Amino acid sequence: MNSKLILKPGREKSLKRRHPWIFSSGVARLEGDPRAGDTVAVQSAQGEFLAWAAYNPGSQISGRVWSWRQNEKIGAAFFQRRIRAALAARVHPTIPADTCRLVHGEADGLPGVIADRYGDTLVLQLTTAGAEAWREDIADALLQVTAAARVYERSDADVRDLEGLPPRVGVLRGDEPPETIEIREHGVRFLVDVRRGHKTGFYLDQRTNRHIVGKLPRDKDTLNRFSYTARFSLHALAEGAKHVTSIDSSADALEWGKRQAALNGFDESRAAWMEADVFKALRTLRDQGKSFDLIVLDPPKFAPTAAHAEKAARGYKDINLLAFKLLRPGGLLATFSCSGGI
Ligand code: SAH
Repeated sequence: MNSKLILKPGREKSLKRRHPWIFSSGVARLEGDPRAGDTVAVQSAQGEFLAWAAYNPGSQISGRVWSWRQNEKIGAAFFQRRIRAALAARVHPTIPADTCRLVHGEADGLPGVIADRYGDTLVLQLTTAGAEAWREDIADALLQVTAAARVYERSDADVRDLEGLPPRVGVLRGDEPPETIEIREHGVRFLVDVRRGHKTGFYLDQRTNRHIVGKLPRDKDTLNRFSYTARFSLHALAEGAKHVTSIDSSADALEWGKRQAALNGFDESRAAWMEADVFKALRTLRDQGKSFDLIVLDPPKFAPTAAHAEKAARGYKDINLLAFKLLRPGGLLATFSCSGGI
C-alpha cells in the first residue's frame, strides 16, 4: 500500500494552484513508513487526493510533486513520458538542438532533475531525494529518448546538502566523456569541460543574454567582470567590440578564456585579461581614470539563502555603484544576479 502524507487544513491551496512543493510546516501527519525518495500520496485534511510526491523527511520541503493525476503510476514509463515531453518542448528554431538544457526541473514536471546536452554527451544533475531514488530509470530514459552516446553525472551542487545527499560525480551510461567538448553558441565556439566546469560545465541558461549583450557593443570598449571563461567577452568580440577586458579571480578560468579566443581566431590585441578581485580591480580602474561603454556584471551567488540577503545586498550595491562610475556617458550596464535568497 502507498504511504500517505496528510496536510493541515487549508494547506492544500498552493497545491491546487499547482505549486509542486509541500513544506514540512504544512504536513499534519504521515501514514505508512516511507523512506527518503519514496513516492507518497498527498491528501488534504478532508481526505481528497492531491498529488503523487517524492517524500523527504530530512528536508524543509517534505514533498515534491511528480504528478497531479491519481491514475498516473510513478515508474520507468512515467520518466520516459516526461523526458520525451521535455525534449519535444525544445524543438524550436531559437534552441540549438545539439546544445541546450533538455530537462529543467520543476518546469518540466521533474523536480530535482537537470539534464544538459552537449552534442552526444548528456550531463545529469540530481538535486533531490526523489530524483536520486529514480536515478537509473532517469538515465535509461534519457539515453532512450535522445540516443546520446553517454550520460555523465554532475550531482555535486551544494543544494544536495539540504536534502541530506552526498555529492556524486561520474559516468552513468556509456563511456568517459572527452576532456573537452566543442560547442557553438550563436556561432561562437566554446570548449566545455563537463567534469570540472561550473554546474554541468556551461551556464546554458545565459545563452540568450550572452547573445543580446554581444550584439550591444559594436566598436565599443567593454568590461566583463566575473568573466569566468569569458563567454560574454567572446560574444562581444565576435560581434565586433573594439576591445574587451575580462576580470576574474581565477587564473584557470582566464586561461580557458584565452584558449577559446584563439580557437575563434580573435585578434589578441582586442582582448585584455586581468586576474584580480573585482571589488579591488574596480577601484583601481576608477583611480586610473579608466572608463567603458559597456560593462557586464555576472557575479557568483552572493546570497545562497534568505539569511544572507542583507549582506549580499550591500555587495550588489557596491559592484553596481562602482560599475556606474566606470561607465562613459550613454554607456550600458548589463547586470545579473543568481541569488535566489534575494
Ligand atoms: N559570466 C560567466 C559566469 C560567471 S561565474 C559566464 O557567463 O559563464 C562567477 C565567476 O566569478 C567565477 O569565474 C569566479 O572565479 C569569479 N569570482 C568570484 N568572486 C570573485 C571576485 N571577488 N573577483 C573576481 N572574480 C570573482
